[in-house]
Amino acid sequence: MSQNTIISVENVDFRYEEKFILKDFSYRFERESFTCILGESGSGKSTLLRLINGLLLPEKGLIKIESETLTPQNLIEKRLQMGYVLQGNSLFPHLTVFQNMAYCLKLLKRPDEFCKEKILELLPLIGLKSELLQKFPHEISGGQKQRVGIIRAIAHDPKIVLMDEPFSALDSETREKLQVLVKDIHQQLKTTFVMVTHSREEAETLATDILEM
Ligand code: ADP
Ligand code: MG
Repeated sequence: MSQNTIISVENVDFRYEEKFILKDFSYRFERESFTCILGESGSGKSTLLRLINGLLLPEKGLIKIESETLTPQNLIEKRLQMGYVLQGNSLFPHLTVFQNMAYCLKLLKRPDEFCKEKILELLPLIGLKSELLQKFPHEISGGQKQRVGIIRAIAHDPKIVLMDEPFSALDSETREKLQVLVKDIHQQLKTTFVMVTHSREEAETLATDILEM
């Protein structure tokens, strides 16, 4: 495996029922790249993200994160090295904006003061004001929720950020603003981004690499 590969998908077979979604599928994601995954609805884009995140295990083949094969034994540890932004509203409704943002930091047992500083440092990056921190998800807009979801995914400094159609539920103006923000964040953090989108235009704006399913 090349030094520069961070995620390696090797000869993977995967199916939910009889029909194979992935058959002998291989792909390497380069360190610090921004890969957009394009493909028709049902082509297996979300399935591939779930396999990389260890939410699903392949029937055959391997998923390697930094040269280490994902196994049931190490997947919790590996998953904490990743951030995951889901489509639509995936915030925890009973947690405040701040608690949502600090969720992975808490799982990693970071001290309260560290969490607070980290979140305050990230807020301007995503264009949110600190007044929002004590609100609950139902009190903020769709665009704000996606911004909170992005902070939740990057706050613990993951090596890999996975995003599944993060902007598809947003109006075009908000979507364009968030695309610019995400591109800036990628450049500043030097993290590897993998983003599913059904928009070729979005992929061409953001991606350093495009994977067509
Ligand atoms: P995409 O994200 O590209 O639209 P998915 O990865 O979500 O595609 O799904 C690929 C295929 O697998 C689709 O045909 C979908 O209906 C099927 N599928 C997805 N999740 C499940 C599941 N939990 N059980 C059975 N079939 C599923
Ligand atoms: Mg999908």
